[in-house]
Amino acid sequence: MAAVIAVATDIQYLKGVGPALAKKFQGLGLRNVHSLLYYFPFRYENRSRLQTALDIPRYLHKPVLLRGQVLSARLTQPRPRFYVVNAQLRGGAGSFSAVWFNQKFMAKTLRPGLEILISGKVVFNDYAGQFQVDVADYEIITADFRPGIVPVYALTDGLTQKKLRQVMRLALAEVRDLRDPLPPALRQKHNLPELPAAVRELHFPSGRENWRQSRQRIVFDEFFYVELGMALRYARHRTELTGISFQPEGRLLDAYYQNLPYQLTAAQQRVIGEVLRDMAGPRPMNRLVQGDVGSGKTDVAVAALLCAVQSGYQAALMVPTEVLAQQHFLKIEARLKTLGVRVESLLGRHPPAEKKEIYRRLAAQECDVVIGTQAIIQDKVVFKNLGFVIIDEQHRFGVVQRQLLKAKAQQNVDLLVMTATPIPRTLALTVYGDLDKSLIDELPPGRAPVQTYHVRPRERAGVYELLRRECQQGFQAYIVYPLVAESEKIDLQAAVESYEQLCRIFPEFQLGLLHGRLKNAEKEIVMQKFRDKELQILVSTTVIEVGVDVPNATLMIIENANRFGLAQLHQLRGRVGRGARAAQCFLITELKTPESKKRIQAMTGTTDGFRIAELDLEIRGPGDFVGVQQSGFPDFIMADLLKDEAILQAARTAAFALVQADPRLERPEQQAVRAELRRRSRGLIDYILLN
Ligand code: ADP
Ligand code: MG
Repeated sequence: MAAVIAVATDIQYLKGVGPALAKKFQGLGLRNVHSLLYYFPFRYENRSRLQTALDIPRYLHKPVLLRGQVLSARLTQPRPRFYVVNAQLRGGAGSFSAVWFNQKFMAKTLRPGLEILISGKVVFNDYAGQFQVDVADYEIITADFRPGIVPVYALTDGLTQKKLRQVMRLALAEVRDLRDPLPPALRQKHNLPELPAAVRELHFPSGRENWRQSRQRIVFDEFFYVELGMALRYARHRTELTGISFQPEGRLLDAYYQNLPYQLTAAQQRVIGEVLRDMAGPRPMNRLVQGDVGSGKTDVAVAALLCAVQSGYQAALMVPTEVLAQQHFLKIEARLKTLGVRVESLLGRHPPAEKKEIYRRLAAQECDVVIGTQAIIQDKVVFKNLGFVIIDEQHRFGVVQRQLLKAKAQQNVDLLVMTATPIPRTLALTVYGDLDKSLIDELPPGRAPVQTYHVRPRERAGVYELLRRECQQGFQAYIVYPLVAESEKIDLQAAVESYEQLCRIFPEFQLGLLHGRLKNAEKEIVMQKFRDKELQILVSTTVIEVGVDVPNATLMIIENANRFGLAQLHQLRGRVGRGARAAQCFLITELKTPESKKRIQAMTGTTDGFRIAELDLEIRGPGDFVGVQQSGFPDFIMADLLKDEAILQAARTAAFALVQADPRLERPEQQAVRAELRRRSRGLIDYILLN
């Protein structure tokens, strides 16, 4: 048995644990004292507020906490290998029964006269005709019994609350080296309690206010070290790495400006300016461009691509799906080709021979710009002179993929990240905290917001009537069906059948059908006909989600709208309202769940992409939103990205200030912080400082 307990001490060596119990702790992911101390309770039990026998019926199906003296205990075996221990207890003004399932030994433990505390749920036993408590946890009341507030932990088989509390108490009392890495001045500035005290308070609270401050401390830490990594990376990019200085003036950009079919919005001009200034500078660019659907991000991308190419470099544009890649390819190639820029697309589905040829051209710099999916980061892809990369819809990629793409170059490339899915503030500060940001906060002139309505399926005929009038006036419409994965046969069939039905409903119009199973050439023919107004109605699965751009389309119907995510609905809706005429969007669905109701309300209530993103985050939670796992950050155990924004801001400020004063954390007084960052990032700090 170790005499001195340290944070690194194996739990096994704590008094009262041993190898067998240590295995149980391991089942919870707990090996050493440090991990144990950070295993916080998910709730507390207030033992000064007990229920009594009389309360029991009122708590049917609810949790209760009762104290009682055992009167009797009886073991029965209703079925083979199924045991029930039923105990009569006297507590307060009456008696009640409590049952333990499959814990045969309890019959012996529960000797008459024993005082116990039980927690569990009240149920009604039909057979016996009485209320009883299904015991989840119990504790025998001995001399060392503690009233007041006690922690309740997530457990595993063979480990009781009592044992865990006991081990936790011991570890807290005896650990000698749980120190606070944060400099005292920083702690005081942000009014944070000292770490060991905060940890203790979270296990065994002494009062509401102390507990609240202690929680803030732990949340602050979680954000602080993430932001510190960001700050270090940011500082390194700004001060140490040498990148390419691209030429913002040149033949290609001149030609681009001359051939513009419209005047760029002020926001587009500003953002292009920010991007080109970064590209011309000596440090590698790391910039995020946010712009709502239809704000004209393609122009920014095209300008940046041209800047790279006219400086003699190759450029790559990576997007998360094949459909998106293809659409970007069509849209961008059309604009670059006329300037003599050689553009290729690289998709997973391309036949090997075709891919091989593209690999060859990339390696020989016979291709200037490649647009594709993750196929671009395959090992086989080698560039002769990659200098610039764009990632679109960045939220679907993680830091690792970003890094892999950048690693395709022999030099420090410039990086541009674009997203139409507005990033809620808190995520912008964490997951995207190391990027400079540009915002296209203006739509091209003359766009009225899309009016959005919720419609129940039985009211569909009315919407069709509106559609008919709209098309009679020469405008066009989309009808969209969900297709979750492109391979989903049932959805595909539903879309095809609906298409046939719609052809009968609208005999006076031409309809087209677009779905992911069509060959690209076929898709292109349908799209071209729609653009040329040969088709009035385009029936489609979600392949039109991103990129499709037909300003004469003014009405959109989305079927089974409940099956789409909020961000996706917003993207789809963005396909209309691209011209001068006010557009309408109809979301057809029953409102079956509260969640789908919230989504539909969000859509009918606002067209502001940022507001929608915040609501999306609220409804789905951050895990789903960015795939925080992918992003390379540890999971937050206590921090809540929605509720703790103020703490996040404070932590970020503190982290950036620290790095500003000491850009590589080299000062002696920062060594504890540095060590903690290394521990939390599992060595990622080295990676941060090297990349
Ligand atoms: P995003 O990719 O941001 O959703 P796009 O780049 O596809 O948006 O642009 C949306 C539509 O607006 C396209 O038809 C594009 O040609 C048009 N557009 C872009 N910028 C302007 C502008 N400054 N004035 C008028 N139309 C524009
Ligand atoms: Mg776009």
